[in-house]
Amino acid sequence: MTIKRMPLEANGHVLSRSGEVEAKWLFDDMDPMVSGADYFCRVCNQPPAYRFTDDAVHVVEPCPYPDGITTTITIAVPSGKLLVSDSLHPVFTWVDADPMSYESTLGKAQAIRQMADAGCAFGPADNCGLGLYRTGPDTYIIASPRPDEDDEPSLPESDCLARICTDLWAYSCADFELWKARGGDPATLDWTDTVVDVPPGEYRFVYRAGERGFDRDSADTVVFAHVERV
Ligand SMILES: [Zn+2]
Repeated sequence: MTIKRMPLEANGHVLSRSGEVEAKWLFDDMDPMVSGADYFCRVCNQPPAYRFTDDAVHVVEPCPYPDGITTTITIAVPSGKLLVSDSLHPVFTWVDADPMSYESTLGKAQAIRQMADAGCAFGPADNCGLGLYRTGPDTYIIASPRPDEDDEPSLPESDCLARICTDLWAYSCADFELWKARGGDPATLDWTDTVVDVPPGEYRFVYRAGERGFDRDSADTVVFAHVERV
């Protein structure tokens, strides 16, 4: 039996942090077994098929999302009252045919689209202390501020319209009146829920955390979504 550490030529997929895998030949005339890589690409959720050369392990098919996935959705906020929370379950839910797929960027994008179809701007986040911040007359971000060298937050507190508790690793925003019309009970709201007055209209949410360059460990403000009235 031969075991060799080899570079993984991932063809755009995200399968291994180290960029290396272990190839194990049980028989010299057969393809080796590969370990040290995920069974499914973290972006496209596809299992890789490998081919082997002397100096590397290659994934045959390219990832369909080499730049990750930017998910853009629009929700209506005709009442001008935007309910901002971590989760608006069970009023807004999505159906996941494959529970594992939510682990991937593609699965998260599908969840975001399903929630938007129901009227909820949803986005998976880290447990990192998020807020909805005003950045202009009709622009906002959902972001996690970071302290600068003087320990001041990278976003002014005065621009924070709603804090989002991320124990459930997500944010959810919807028209307050729509939420009530779908059975939401205002008596159940607590400190993790905020109703923000905004100009009535359509709001576009551009979810950034699925993009390949997204840096959740950035020393600067981490922007999960850009929000704009359109
Ligand atoms: Zn992929």
